[in-house]
Amino acid sequence: MKKNEKDWPELNFECQRCLHCCGGEPGYVFLSRNDIERASQHLGVSEEEFISIYCRKIDYGTYYMVSLKEKDNYDCVFLRPFGCAIYEARPHQCSTYPFWRGLGDDRQAWEEEKRNCPGLGKGRKYSRKEAQELIDSNDLNPAYIIFKHNL
Ligand code: SF4
Ligand code: SF4
Repeated sequence: MKKNEKDWPELNFECQRCLHCCGGEPGYVFLSRNDIERASQHLGVSEEEFISIYCRKIDYGTYYMVSLKEKDNYDCVFLRPFGCAIYEARPHQCSTYPFWRGLGDDRQAWEEEKRNCPGLGKGRKYSRKEAQELIDSNDLNPAYIIFKHNL
C-alpha cells in the first residue's frame, strides 16, 4: 500500500467558481496536441489559426512549448466575466486541477494550495484511487513540444 492510500485516503474538492486560477497573475496553461485539436474544433478554426490567435510559444532553448496567451492584466485569453469561454473544450491542465502531480499527491502542497483555491477541502469527495487516476491522466496529455530544428 502506498503512503497516500493509508494516510490520505480521500480528498474533497469542489470548484467555487471564484475564477482566481484563470487569471490575475502570470502563469502558463500548457497545451497538449489533444487540447489544441479539441479547442480549435470547438472554436471552428484550424489548429494553425488557433495557435497563432490564442497561444504563445514559450522558449526552452532547443524547443518551444505552447501556452495560452494572457491579457495585459494576466487573465487567460479565454477568461470572461461568466467564466471560461471554452469551458467544454478547456485544456486538460485546467480540467484536472487540482489533481496535478506534486499537488494532489502531496499533502503539504495541498494544504498550502488552499490559500489560492477556496475549493480545496470542500464539496465532492474523491477517493485516493480517483485522485490518482486524474493525476496520472496528465501523463497521457503531455505538453506539445515544437523542436526548433523542425521549423
Ligand atoms: S481557484 Fe479553485 S475555486 Fe476558484 S475557480 Fe479555480 S478551481 Fe475553482
Ligand atoms: S482556458 Fe478556461 S479554464 Fe483554463 S485558464 Fe483559461 S479561462 Fe481558465
